[in-house]
Amino acid sequence: MRPHVREWDEAQGFPRALWTKLAALGLTGIQMAEEHGGAGMSAVGYCICIEELARVDPSISLSVAAHNGLCVSHLSMFGTPAQKATYLVPLAKGDTIGAWGLTEASAGSDAAAMRTTARRDGDGWVLNGNKQFITHGAIGDTLVVIAITDRAAGRHGISAFVLPRGTPGFRAGKKEDKLGMRASDTSEVILQDCRVPAEALLGAEGDGFVNTLQVLDAGRIGIAALAVGLAQGAYEAARRYALERRQFGQPLAWFQAIQWKLADMATRIEAARLLTYRAAWLRDQRAERTSIESSMAKLYSSEIAVRAADECVQIHGGYGFVKDYPAEKFFRDVKLCTIGEGTSEIQRLVIARQLLGR
Ligand SMILES: Cc1cc2nc3c(=O)[nH]c(=O)nc-3n(C[C@H](O)[C@H](O)[C@H](O)COP(=O)(O)OP(=O)(O)OC[C@H]3O[C@@H](n4cnc5c(N)ncnc54)[C@H](O)[C@@H]3O)c2cc1C
Repeated sequence: MRPHVREWDEAQGFPRALWTKLAALGLTGIQMAEEHGGAGMSAVGYCICIEELARVDPSISLSVAAHNGLCVSHLSMFGTPAQKATYLVPLAKGDTIGAWGLTEASAGSDAAAMRTTARRDGDGWVLNGNKQFITHGAIGDTLVVIAITDRAAGRHGISAFVLPRGTPGFRAGKKEDKLGMRASDTSEVILQDCRVPAEALLGAEGDGFVNTLQVLDAGRIGIAALAVGLAQGAYEAARRYALERRQFGQPLAWFQAIQWKLADMATRIEAARLLTYRAAWLRDQRAERTSIESSMAKLYSSEIAVRAADECVQIHGGYGFVKDYPAEKFFRDVKLCTIGEGTSEIQRLVIARQLLGR
C-alpha cells in the first residue's frame, strides 16, 4: 500500500482494486469461520491485522475495521443461517463490501434518539430515514441498518435490518469531504419508502439496540488497534527522521528533549497495545461482555495516538507540515480515533457507569 498512500488520500476515493488483494490475504473476513469464507483468526489476530494496516494507511485500516468489526460482525453474531449464506459468505470472501448504519444527523452519541423508522407492511417492512457518516455508505454492497420499529418501546423498540444495494428506495446521499481518513468512503445513506422482505430483519424485533451495543463492544477493540497501529507508524516515522536529520552538528535523536519524546511515545504505545490485546484476549476466552475493557482500550489508545501523531509532526519540524513526509497525514487521520465508534467522552461515560454500577 505504501507507494499509493498519498495518491489515495488526494483522490479521496476508496481503491476498490485493493479490496481483492485484501481479500486474498483473508482481511475481508478476518474472524469469520473458514466455512463462511473467512480466515478464522482470533480477536487478537484481528487486532494485529488492523494495527499493521494502520501503521501504513489508517484510512484503509478504517475501511477494513468497519467492514469486519461492524457489518460482518453484526451479521455473524445475530444473522440467521439464510442471512449468513446470502450476505456473510460474499462479504467474508471480499466479493462485497459491508456498511453499517446507526448514526443520524441528530443522533450521534445519543444513538437511541434516531428517527429512521421501519414500518410493517404486509409480510415485509418499509424503511424511511437518513443515516449520516456511514463508512462505505456510497460504495458498500450490503447495508446493516438500525431503525425504530416501535417508538413507544424506547430502546427496546429498535431493530436491525440487512439489505443489498440496489433495493429500490436505498441510495447514497452526500459524500463527506474529510480532514483525514480520506481514502475511506464516508457518505450519507438515504432510505425512502424502501421496502424489504420479512427476512431482512436481523436479530429479533426490538433487540436491535442491545445487539448494537454488543457489536460496538467488539468493534471498539478494532478502533483501539487502529489507533495503536497509527501511533506505531507515527513513532517509526519520527524515530527514522530523528536519526537522519542533523541540526547543531548532530542528529536530532542525540538531543535529550527528542529522546524523551520518543521514549514517551514508545512507552504509551506499548501500554495501549497491551490494553487492546487484553480486551481482545478476553473475547477469545468467550467473555460475555467486554464493555469496560473495550472502552478503556479505545479511550487510551486513541488519546495516546493523538499525542504520538502530534509529537511526530513536532519532531519533523517544518517537514512535518508538508506532504513529502507521512507525519502530516497521521496527524490528520488520527483525530477520527477519538470520535468514531463512540467519542472519548462517551468511552469515559461507559467506563464510569461500570465503575459506579449505574
Ligand atoms: C470518518 C467517520 C466514519 C464513521 N463511520 C460510521 C459508520 O460506519 N456507521 C455509523 O453508524 N457511524 C459512523 N460514524 C459516526 C460516528 O460514530 C459519530 O460521529 C460519533 O459517534 C459521534 O457522534 P456525533 O458526530 O453526532 O457527535 P455528537 O454526539 O454530537 O457529539 C459532539 C460532542 O459532544 C460530546 N458529547 C455528546 N454527548 C455527551 C455526553 N453525554 N457527555 C459528554 N459529552 C458528550 C461528544 O463526545 C463530542 O465531543 C463515523 C464518523 C466518522 C467521522
